[in-house]
Amino acid sequence: MVVKYEGPSAKEEWETSSAFGIPVRVRDRQEEQREQERVWQEVKERRRLRNALSRRRQRRRLFALAGAAAAAAAAVAFSFGLRALWYAAPGRESSGGADFPSSPSPDWIDQQWIDNADARLGIPLTEVKDLAVHYVGNPGSSAAGNRNYFNTEGVDVCSHFIVGLEGEVIQCLPLNEQSVATNQRNRDTISIEVCHPDETGEFSEVTYASLVRLAAWLCRQFGLTQENLIRHYDVSGKLCPLYYVQHEDAWEKLKQDVGVALASV
Ligand SMILES: [Zn+2]
Repeated sequence: MVVKYEGPSAKEEWETSSAFGIPVRVRDRQEEQREQERVWQEVKERRRLRNALSRRRQRRRLFALAGAAAAAAAAVAFSFGLRALWYAAPGRESSGGADFPSSPSPDWIDQQWIDNADARLGIPLTEVKDLAVHYVGNPGSSAAGNRNYFNTEGVDVCSHFIVGLEGEVIQCLPLNEQSVATNQRNRDTISIEVCHPDETGEFSEVTYASLVRLAAWLCRQFGLTQENLIRHYDVSGKLCPLYYVQHEDAWEKLKQDVGVALASV
């Protein structure tokens, strides 16, 4: 190899590789070191970015988790808070819904709120478009008996009112809460279960009269008419109230009688 003399410093730029005895230019080696340094810096930078990214992802996951937990806690607290509010104030009827009647209930309505959480879901009833009439389907059972049934753990049905064999009226839950009686119309109806002496499902005279009075009172409270009386049958096709599904004329007569009661006040 010819070494060209390039001035006094040129010699210093050469040294012998200890491994192979090959002379290597010092400048090349320095460049190599710089290159290695660059690669190393790149590796470090990439590592730093990767760590930063994973930290950010972790933080995001943590935030999402915390957010979800907070939302769940808020929802639970809210529902319990609302329920507690309603249970604590049994006489109140105007706290939840939009235009709910604030006039006190007449003394012939016996308010006995149920506290069975399977049936009393505490879902607000915010509008009342119709009154839904049912029959209890258990001949000879009393209003109190049916109310206690609604209040049994594991039973997941309940109505706002039960009209008994003697004409007694028990109210099981406030008017501003949804009942569980009328399928998809739970959300905008007040439900009335009616007791009956036998299998036909026909209401006795005294029960009938009490039902008419109750329906008329509710119509006045919510600005409805006798035309807003519906049967469970009209919603789901269920044969309820049995006699008044099988006897259309009896159903029409019931609505008429509610209309007369409404007009007479
Ligand atoms: Zn029914």
